[in-house]
Amino acid sequence: MSGIQPRATRRGTRLDWVKFDFELARDGSIEPTAKALYAAIASFVDVETRRSSNEIGTIANDVSEDVPTRKRLAECIGKSVDTVDRCITSLEQRGLLKVHRRTHPDNPKVYVPSEYELLPYQPQPVVAPAAVVAPPRKRMPISATKRARVLARDGHRCRKCSAIEDLTIDHIKHWSRGGSNADDNLRVLCRSCNSRRSDGSLDGVDA
Ligand SMILES: [Zn+2]
Repeated sequence: MSGIQPRATRRGTRLDWVKFDFELARDGSIEPTAKALYAAIASFVDVETRRSSNEIGTIANDVSEDVPTRKRLAECIGKSVDTVDRCITSLEQRGLLKVHRRTHPDNPKVYVPSEYELLPYQPQPVVAPAAVVAPPRKRMPISATKRARVLARDGHRCRKCSAIEDLTIDHIKHWSRGGSNADDNLRVLCRSCNSRRSDGSLDGVDA
């Protein structure tokens, strides 16, 4: 028989806990048995509070009734001690319970729970969906008609250096950045100006 009688504790005001309990009850990510265990431990906190505040003069004669041993907790939730252990682990992992342990008085190698500290309910952080990376937009070819129209409009000259050879049609706003094939997004550049543009040196500079 353990010489340590574990306590159940909570920090914070009673009002907050009502809210936390309510939110906990609605959280679908916590299994019902773990919620029941949380509530069971909470009921022992109330005993603890009453005892320390001396609001109630009569304390149950059978002290063991007030001590949240694993066996007692198992009775409370109507499950086995193994289930209590499993739910304690699950509540600890979920950040809802902190189990303080002490060495067993008769065996320093054994740690036994000395306090079940209920922690405030924190909603499960919402995991933002991974950013959807849009596949690169498929490049639409510039039709021969459009090409001829833009060349005529720009006088068959590079809009940067007025060269008349090796002319290309350039997207003022890059296709990769959402620029379109509309006439007003197209201009004539010689290959040399266009390649300087491509390396970024003329990026964003319009003629
Ligand atoms: Zn040029």
